[in-house]
Amino acid sequence: MKKILFLLLAISIVSCKKSEKKVEEISKPKVKLYQLVGGSIFVKKLEVFSQDTTYTGQTKQFTDAYYVISHPKGNLMWDAGLPEQLVLPEPFDEPSGIFRIQRPDSLANQLKSIGFKIEDFTHFAMSHSHFDHTGHANLLKDATWLVQENEFNTVASDTLKQKNPAVAELSKVKKLNGDYDVFGDGTVVIKYMPGHTIGHQVLYVEVAGLEKPVLLTGDLYHFEENRTNKGVPSFNYNVTQTLESMDKFEAFAKEKNAEVIIQHSPKDYEKLKNLLNSL
Ligand SMILES: [Zn+2]
Repeated sequence: MKKILFLLLAISIVSCKKSEKKVEEISKPKVKLYQLVGGSIFVKKLEVFSQDTTYTGQTKQFTDAYYVISHPKGNLMWDAGLPEQLVLPEPFDEPSGIFRIQRPDSLANQLKSIGFKIEDFTHFAMSHSHFDHTGHANLLKDATWLVQENEFNTVASDTLKQKNPAVAELSKVKKLNGDYDVFGDGTVVIKYMPGHTIGHQVLYVEVAGLEKPVLLTGDLYHFEENRTNKGVPSFNYNVTQTLESMDKFEAFAKEKNAEVIIQHSPKDYEKLKNLLNSL
């Protein structure tokens, strides 16, 4: 009899745990993530991605991904690829001689392929304001731009003589000072990680159905070796800040057991594609 009681107790504990899990699953908002290719960047002089001569004489192929995050409370676009003027039959060698660049298609066409329209976006954020992340930003003018206040003052403030044209048309602005929980439930969080630029940020996303949350690096890292060796590009805003952000990033990634995605890495593009295809 004792044995039976124990067995019944064990069964009820297991079923209770199961229903708890179900409640948790139901109450979590269904967040979806899509990745799109905002460009191809062939780096002809990889040495610019180091403070020393580590990469002298090397070249590397980058991708230039941007992302759509769909949440029951709204849609966020993260980063904006290369400008649409670069939707060209042949890649373009930009004047500095460092990058060969090309964009595969327009924003409208790319969104159509995943069932979205430009007007669907309530929120827009970029990791930072370099040309390979601000590409189609001007088209997101009806969304609220989530930007660190210091980054805004550097690229779009009214006190600037000439605003960065890619962001000049964005008039709905929410200026941030640090981390920001976009939809207020912890599933989509902008993390302030300065150093590459003054207000550089990365994005944490809890995608429904994925075992691990996704952590998008922005340009904290450009490729795998940069992460392993803590390589800081020659053109970064602040080296010390970058290294501090890298430490902060790694601690956060570990705490959350996150899947780290380096946005310029073709390998990580494939990794995320496979993860999202598995859903
Ligand atoms: Zn970049």
